[in-house]
Amino acid sequence: MKEYIAYCGLDCEKCDARIATVNNDDQKRAEVAKLWSELNGAEITPEMINCTGCRIQGVKFPYCDAMCPIRKCAAEKKYETCADCEEMNSCEKLQAILSNVPEAAENLRNK
Ligand code: SF4
Ligand code: SF4
Repeated sequence: MKEYIAYCGLDCEKCDARIATVNNDDQKRAEVAKLWSELNGAEITPEMINCTGCRIQGVKFPYCDAMCPIRKCAAEKKYETCADCEEMNSCEKLQAILSNVPEAAENLRNK
């Protein structure tokens, strides 16, 4: 599995938080923080927009680092991604992502 593919199948390489991080782009950080705050109904500051990727060593967006139930679950089970899990097609945590982002399901299927 490509290392930029998150446990859930999202492509971190296309994530605006990672793009802002690798380019050290403070204007993009501010734009992403504003957009993600609106989408999530929570205050997300530009300082929080720092992430190298779900399965890549380095700084993480706080939600992905400490709160994402999928990342926590798959890491504890020592799976490379959720594609290794027998519950992949029935897991409610994972389906919450896959039903909104079909590309993530595709990424997991193409492991
Ligand atoms: S782990 Fe980081 S790069 Fe991947 S989706 Fe989450 S915020 Fe974006
Ligand atoms: S139960 Fe399986 S599919 Fe669901 S989050 Fe955990 S590892 Fe992923």
